[in-house]
Amino acid sequence: MSRPALATFDLAALRANYAHARAVHGGRALAVLKANAYGHGAVECARALAGDADAFAVAFTEEALALREAGIQQPILVLEGAFGMDDMRLAQAHGLWLVVHQQEQLRMLESLRAGARVNAWLKIDTGMHRAGLEPGEAQACWQRLKACEQVAGITLMTHLASADEPDNPVTARQLAAFEAATAGLPGPRSVANSAGVLAWQGAHRDWARPGIMLYGADPRGTPSDMLQPVMQLTSEVFNLRTIGAGEALGYGGSFVAERPTRVGLVAMGYADGYPRRAHTGTPVAVGGHLTRIIGRVAMDMLTVDLTDLPEVGVGAPVELWGRQVSVNSVAAAAGTIAYELLCNVKRVRRVYR
Ligand SMILES: *Cc1c(COP(=O)(O)O)cnc(C)c1O
Repeated sequence: MSRPALATFDLAALRANYAHARAVHGGRALAVLKANAYGHGAVECARALAGDADAFAVAFTEEALALREAGIQQPILVLEGAFGMDDMRLAQAHGLWLVVHQQEQLRMLESLRAGARVNAWLKIDTGMHRAGLEPGEAQACWQRLKACEQVAGITLMTHLASADEPDNPVTARQLAAFEAATAGLPGPRSVANSAGVLAWQGAHRDWARPGIMLYGADPRGTPSDMLQPVMQLTSEVFNLRTIGAGEALGYGGSFVAERPTRVGLVAMGYADGYPRRAHTGTPVAVGGHLTRIIGRVAMDMLTVDLTDLPEVGVGAPVELWGRQVSVNSVAAAAGTIAYELLCNVKRVRRVYR
């Protein structure tokens, strides 16, 4: 038998989540597959969605090329755009769509002479102040793109900074800024990430850009009946012991038993991507029952409280996250977000269903 640490991916859930995103938003939807599809395997996810998705999105051209090499033929939008002329030529050669979010990228497009025409997504900064052209530059940049021989079509886009906070007035201000900056310009528009799809009707345009919701996590951190988790991270209990009241457990002795405590040792650690910051109290399911992590998460192992689960023994299945334990609940306990946990999974065996 090999080490039981395992990530199982439910591709039917991925397809259902994509369909949900598209139905809620209307219009078309890019399936965002950057960062190896948030840890779920970009090629496997692209293949699973190939019959459904209007297009895919990744962060940079190498991620797009990996999909092309695997035979994926849908349009692929490169969200960070081109870093240099090689990226521009790769986009031409492989039919990639490019985000244009700074002047340098516009100049590179203008300097392209021969080769296929590329689709440009002009990104306007409406308040996030990370990437994007100034609202005041939008009209002039659009005209320059329009004049480019090598530009096939132009989509107008912006990115929301706080759409996961339903009461934050920033989103409405961003939407108004986007309307003002792009007033009168023809062509499709795209605003909504997952939070925009789920929480902001006013952000729905021609194209949605759902990422995290495809993988079954609501970006607001709340449980969702409509989304199904795609990744299930599991392992097994492979040793048991009982420590007495007053005895310490694991590195630093951070957990001290208040009563005789039955401890299960689980083959899963931070080298597998389970967060080290998930301290005592983080939810975990063992043998189908909810319990908690106790002590510090180590590189290869972690410990769970089985005091109230006397029927659970060696070999019992452990779900770190999945259907019983939401990845959002683990992220909250670890002081981070589901995105980071999902992207970080490594070293475990991977199985697709
Ligand atoms: C990553 C990304 C998305 C997807 O965001 P989610 O919150 O995962 O839905 C959408 N648009 C852009 C520009 C992105 O970089």
